[in-house]
Amino acid sequence: MPERVLVAVAWPYANGSIHLGHTAGAYLPADIFARYHRMIGNEVAMVSGSDAHGTPVTIAADQQGVSPEDIHAKFQAEFLDTWERFGISFDLFTSTHTRNHTEVAQDMFLRLLDKGYLYTDTMSQPFCTNDERFLPDRYVEGTCPHCAYDGARGDQCDNCGRTLDPEELIGLRCRTCGSSPEIRETEHFFLKLSAFEDQLLEWVRKQDHLRPNVKNFTIGYLEGGLRDRAITRDLEWGVPVPVEGYENKRIYVWFEAVIGYLSATKEWARIGGDPDKWKEFWQGECRSYYFMGKDNIPFHTVIWPAMLLGYGSLNLPYNVPANEYVNLEDQKLSTSRNWAVWMPDYLDRYDPDPLRYVLSSIMPETSDSDFSWAEYVRRNNDELVATYGNLVHRTLSMARRNFGAIPAPGGLDEQSRALLDEARETLDETGGNIADCRFRNALQSAMRLAQSTNRYLDSKAPWQAVKTDKADAARTIWTSMTVVNCLKTALFPFMPGSSEKVHTMLGLDGSVESEGWSWDPDALRPGSPLPRPKPLFRKFDESLIEEETARLGS
Ligand SMILES: [Zn+2]
Ligand SMILES: [Zn+2]
Repeated sequence: MPERVLVAVAWPYANGSIHLGHTAGAYLPADIFARYHRMIGNEVAMVSGSDAHGTPVTIAADQQGVSPEDIHAKFQAEFLDTWERFGISFDLFTSTHTRNHTEVAQDMFLRLLDKGYLYTDTMSQPFCTNDERFLPDRYVEGTCPHCAYDGARGDQCDNCGRTLDPEELIGLRCRTCGSSPEIRETEHFFLKLSAFEDQLLEWVRKQDHLRPNVKNFTIGYLEGGLRDRAITRDLEWGVPVPVEGYENKRIYVWFEAVIGYLSATKEWARIGGDPDKWKEFWQGECRSYYFMGKDNIPFHTVIWPAMLLGYGSLNLPYNVPANEYVNLEDQKLSTSRNWAVWMPDYLDRYDPDPLRYVLSSIMPETSDSDFSWAEYVRRNNDELVATYGNLVHRTLSMARRNFGAIPAPGGLDEQSRALLDEARETLDETGGNIADCRFRNALQSAMRLAQSTNRYLDSKAPWQAVKTDKADAARTIWTSMTVVNCLKTALFPFMPGSSEKVHTMLGLDGSVESEGWSWDPDALRPGSPLPRPKPLFRKFDESLIEEETARLGS
């Protein structure tokens, strides 16, 4: 029976390009996971979109002298281009700046208000008398009271990572004009998070399939006690508060953006011509997986579940496989210092698959990991080119050169049968690991099969056997080709582009994706013609390392 799987992926702010950290943290693991589930025949909805309404977007607009709409439109287009070129297979990548999302977000707001989970109260907020406006979050900066970093924002210190209230900042100033704001009282809606504390604790303690870091963090967060939080702001940009008398206030992004998972599923269902289909993913039997970096954990294991519980009859997250961070050349990624590898930039110079491979190999599933260009070159040259690419190339070249077509295996010897058994086990093991969100292990097991097959070829030496025992050479080459045919499937979620190339070079019709997660050891018909094989990957010169590291931080 096919199962339903919702693959919900973190929403990037529409104020800057996607970099390697976002990719390894959320988009690539989500894509591998979604591709695998589609291949085993499950029904997948992989959704996300750009977070259009955060103050990072309005601040970027102010700085560039354009409208928030312009900034949003520019990055929405760029994100779609990045997914296309890098092969991130969203079923829908939308935006929070749509009529549909506004309706769904306002419906959530009103339902929670009706059920008594929202209330109004006054709070103090910085007000700039010069600009005559309130200054939420990122509109103010000052010195962090914890680490003395000057340039901490009203919501968070980028240096020590602590979340802050504007009033805690020392030497508070308006980011637009530099003057020091007054603190004024303003009325806002609050989400009664405290009402969900016990229910959430009971729920999360039962979720044994959560990663230990996610589960422990969430339990600690809940045991620390939940404070009610303001969910509206004095802003002009965003989803309007749907209550009379509050027309000049907007629903705050951290409440509004997470609703995007639900609104995007509704939009996807409508586009697909079956508007009620979202219900199967949110009210029916369905497992929902949320992919993100660790800084987003509380929004997905505490705040969003609280909103879902408050709304009622919507599925809670099944799993939140949040990743730790990827560092770059042993330093924390920093967009302001340009210590980052930007995806559009990368894709202008290189193919997607080597980076998909390297990021999967170092995916920060249980602890932070490090990306370096030296590691990129080494893994590309030693693993992709020398192990996998070489296996494919020498196998197919020998077949074509010596037999002009797929050779006939005859009866298989024990060594060949053992290798085919290993291939069968590898496909199962790789699939099981992907299903459990252990992507590094999944990739390792597939690559181990490539290594075993190279060893098998070395010990059988068909290039010699072809002169003395052509039947044995045929058997060996056929076996190796059949394992390559299995590897293309096991590696497809990680490197879809090169898997499709292998499929074509094996002389097969259709696509790897349409074959599904299966492997037929009799798929390669003796006598079928083979096209001329081309190298699967290209070897990089060591000079690439210096060239790429020179781009960082400049
Ligand atoms: Zn700090
Ligand atoms: Zn000001």
